[in-house]
Amino acid sequence: MKFTSILLIFLGFLTPIVGFSQIHLEGEVRILMKEGLIDCSFELSNVPEIEAYNILLNKGMNIQFFQNTEKQVIPYSGYYNGRMRGEALAYTFIDENRQLEPMPKKFSIKYRGAFPVYEDLLNSFDYKGMIAFNGKTLRAAEQSKWYPVIYDVAKDKLLDAFSYSIKVICEDCAQVFINGDVPSAARDHVFQSSVPRQPMLFAGEFPVLENKGNYILNVNLEEDKANMIFKEIDKIKLFFAGKMQIPYNEKIFLISHKAVTPYKPDQTWGFAIFPTFAYSGVDFNALINGGGKLEPSNLSFFAHELAHYYFDTKILSGPQAWFWLESTAEYLALKAVEEFSPEFYQNRIKGYANFLSGKNYKALAKIKKRDEIDEDYRYVFGPLLLLVFELEFGNSITFQILSELVKRSELASISLDDFKEIALEKGVSLLEYSRFEEKFLNSSEALTHTVEKILSHE
Ligand SMILES: [Zn+2]
Repeated sequence: MKFTSILLIFLGFLTPIVGFSQIHLEGEVRILMKEGLIDCSFELSNVPEIEAYNILLNKGMNIQFFQNTEKQVIPYSGYYNGRMRGEALAYTFIDENRQLEPMPKKFSIKYRGAFPVYEDLLNSFDYKGMIAFNGKTLRAAEQSKWYPVIYDVAKDKLLDAFSYSIKVICEDCAQVFINGDVPSAARDHVFQSSVPRQPMLFAGEFPVLENKGNYILNVNLEEDKANMIFKEIDKIKLFFAGKMQIPYNEKIFLISHKAVTPYKPDQTWGFAIFPTFAYSGVDFNALINGGGKLEPSNLSFFAHELAHYYFDTKILSGPQAWFWLESTAEYLALKAVEEFSPEFYQNRIKGYANFLSGKNYKALAKIKKRDEIDEDYRYVFGPLLLLVFELEFGNSITFQILSELVKRSELASISLDDFKEIALEKGVSLLEYSRFEEKFLNSSEALTHTVEKILSHE
């Protein structure tokens, strides 16, 4: 049950990584766990030409200099009377007249940060934007901007997922992990990812459990129990791969970390920086029930997160962006729950339908702006729309369309026109599709029609 309560909270934190150009981050990080010190030296290359930009860096980091490719210092603004954006101070390059300079394709930066080490005395809050030393571990998620992040002002987009090669030197760490690579016990190790990732950093003293390339970090768990969790996760992956007809080639990392604020006994917190899922206050020993399986609510939680392997930020486009990203993932999660826990599934979809009764949402095709699709729309109404489509046209066609949408999203933006086009290609007749479209995607009564359809179906 635990995971359901945190689901919506943390999904809100999922910051989209957007943009097709691949920035590369290369450099060195020195960590002093006991002192809470981080020393970084990075080069960013293949940076896209952006006219209005900020370079964002955590407010606790002090910049020594920016340099160009000739090792000359680059003047910048933002160090005096600076502007904050979230956790970071915003910097821009300037010329001798203090006018904005365009973003160079390549530049380097050297900086150092000192942070509190929360051993006994804690803070009143903790969240994904914290650079959190707790005496045992260091957690620095992408949101903290512990590494330089580019902000595209005109598009209001953060570019924070990079391919990378990062050497981490930490004398007082037993393990270091950077999202995108596997953990290492070496005191001096180069972490690499050719796939763009948000390089969350997690280091310190903790056990590492591994099974077929999936990992659990910082959890004292009997091997049997760990293997049951791994097995359940593989089961979900295999189910998705079969349905989507796209192999699931991703290893998963589960991290337990201690918050730097006091937690009540049943308080939990989770966030995902794909393919890493991080939790505070979660008892991993209790994830698996007596039968060696994930409790249905936990299964549904993991299934949703695992579904983002397919529906990742590449699919974020147009006004229906949140539908493409989240409603699809939740639909897949519902289908996994149906497969492995049919009774729970029936209750859940009825619960979703009842939750929606009396609410007032615009029909999906009438959405003009992204934010019109709020959280309940994304996670409850959206998945039910896909379910209604399935009830009308079948499970197989629905999955074939989703699979094709994922493939198209690799190359271009997608829209409801693509959905329709693929549906017709897969054998739905134009007449039938038009009926569906009118009733569930266009009508001002679309929500009522959806709820009725779900509740009348047994
Ligand atoms: Zn999601």
